[in-house]
This record gives sequence, structure tokens and C-alpha cells, in this order.
Amino acid sequence: MTGDRPGSPDDGHEVATVRRIQLGNTVFEGLNDVYVLGGTGADERLGLVDAGVSTQETRAELEAGLAEYGYAIADVDDVVLTHWHADHAGLAGEIQAASDATVHVHAADASLVAGEETAWDRYHALEERRFEEWRIPDGPRGELRSFLDSHAGAQGEPVDVTPFTDGDRLWIGGSVLDVVHLPGHAAGLCGFAFDAAEGREAFVGDVVLPKYTPNVGGADLRVDAPLQRYVESLERVADAGWRRVWPGHRDAIDAPAERARTILDHHRERTRRVVDVLSTHGPCDVWTVSAHLFGGLEGIHILHGPGEAWAHLDHLAHAGVVERDGDAYALVDTDVRVDSLFPAR
Ligand SMILES: [Zn+2]
Ligand SMILES: [Zn+2]
Repeated sequence: MTGDRPGSPDDGHEVATVRRIQLGNTVFEGLNDVYVLGGTGADERLGLVDAGVSTQETRAELEAGLAEYGYAIADVDDVVLTHWHADHAGLAGEIQAASDATVHVHAADASLVAGEETAWDRYHALEERRFEEWRIPDGPRGELRSFLDSHAGAQGEPVDVTPFTDGDRLWIGGSVLDVVHLPGHAAGLCGFAFDAAEGREAFVGDVVLPKYTPNVGGADLRVDAPLQRYVESLERVADAGWRRVWPGHRDAIDAPAERARTILDHHRERTRRVVDVLSTHGPCDVWTVSAHLFGGLEGIHILHGPGEAWAHLDHLAHAGVVERDGDAYALVDTDVRVDSLFPAR
């Protein structure tokens, strides 16, 4: 939705305390965080940020978590999604079916969350094309395909979505959330900034996580120049002046600018390693670079390893540092200034 709800105050009140429900997640980056907004006054709406994977166990955990705050799933008025991934959007359809909640998501992720068949067909075709280009061998490719197929149910039921875009202002559970588009890990990934007691804070999904570096390249194959987009998003986080952010997994991050810069450093270092692989071994396809970086891979990492290698090779190709010949990438020049490909620290 765009702009304020009719009749809502011009300036929203702050989110006094961020309330969190943690949901199990056997597949991805560890426990998922669902944030609970509003619902405290008789006529105040109840909102959730993100929704967890669609399994019976997580639904039961969400019900129990809401019950601790005195709510049921049927009480939810709005669900705001940080991005389309199953561990964030999975339960949105079931919540909507039980509560008639409005489900908000960035326009770029709307068709996937809605469960539109054409959007998913396109996505699956893109997967096959990339797995081919990346030269993932038949064995691991079959393992990855059965992994993806066996987890397809986690995406949940189709959703009637209400799209938003960068700069929109959402009125959720009595709070004003300002949409900040932060693509890279996913095309529609967004943060939601709000006033807290001591300054601006934000819900940020998987843009920055406290422990892991969010995957870029494999996590959303639709993102064009994914590492460049992600670098820009990390700079935006570093410059936003948020004093704390609430990620999609694990605990709040109290120095988000510093965390964003640490992740930038990590990618600068990884780019250096990719250049080293090419200078040591000569032209390589994506799978070979991934093997040099990460060794043998299992499960979802068969996607995320080469995805990450591809994101870096693609970044180097855009900069003219490497050249693509068929499915192989080769260094154009041995004197590579990796620092120039990233923002100054
Ligand atoms: Zn994600
Ligand atoms: Zn996630």
C-alpha cells in the first residue's frame, strides 16, 4: 500500500518495545524472527513483520508465541514481508486465510509471494538455465533439485498481496514504517525504518545478519548484477544512521553501520580470493571457482556456493577485470585493483 491509511495521524508514534517471536527453521540461517507490532489498545491494529516457514510446527510456534502476548492468528490485521523467501513469507497465506490480514510486500517480490504460476515457472526455468551455465555437474545438480523439490511446501499458500515500493510509508499496528528498498540477497528485499525511544531503528530481514553473511547470487536468481546491488544496499544501511536493526534471524544488531562495513570487507576479501583462483588456475567456470572457494557442498549450499562465486565473477566482469568466454571466466589483466571495486572503508 502507498501512503497513509485514511484517518491515520500524520506522524506515527514510536515502537516502544520491539516484541519478537522466534520460529524454528531447520533449513536456512537459524531461527526466524517474527516481530509483533501494536494490538495493545482496543482499536489498535495488530501487525507482524515476517511470517516464518510454512510447516505445522512453525505455525504451532507462531500460535504459541502470539498467545504469550494475548493474541491469536485470527487477530492479525497486517503482515509486512521483508522478502519472498519461504522462511519469511511461508506462513503469510495461512495467516491471511485465518485473519483476512493485509499482506504487504515489495512489488518485485509480489508475484512469487502471490504464488502466481507463471512467475514460479519463470523462476524454475531461470534455475535450470543458471545451473547449466554454472556447470553444476549432474550428481550435485540432482541432489540440489531433490532438495529444492522437497522443501517447496515451505513456501506456503498463495497470498492476496498488497505491493509497496521504496519510500512508501506503511501504517502497521499503530506504527509508521518507512520502506527502504535494499536489494541484493533478494530483488524485493526491504527494510522498514521506525522511530524508537532513542532514535531511528529498522527491521531489515536478511540484509545484514549478526552472524552469517547473507547469500548473494544464489538466493534470488532474478537479481541483475547482484553483488553490485548488495554493495549499494550495504552502503545504504551504513549511511542510514540507524542505531539498531532487527534482522530476520537471531538477535538485534546494535552497531548496524559497523556490521554492514564488516560484510563489505568480507566481500572485498572474497573477490580477492576469486581473482587468486583465476590467476592460479587460469580460466574457470563458476562451479570450478566455487569448488576452489568452498570445497564439496551439500543441500542448499550446492546453490549458494556457485551462486556466490557467480555474483563475484559477474561483478568482476562488469568492471572489465574478467572476461567471459562461453561458460568460463578469465582474468583480462593480472594487475587487479580489487579495492577500486568496493566503496572506500
Ligand atoms: Zn532470505
Ligand atoms: Zn532468511
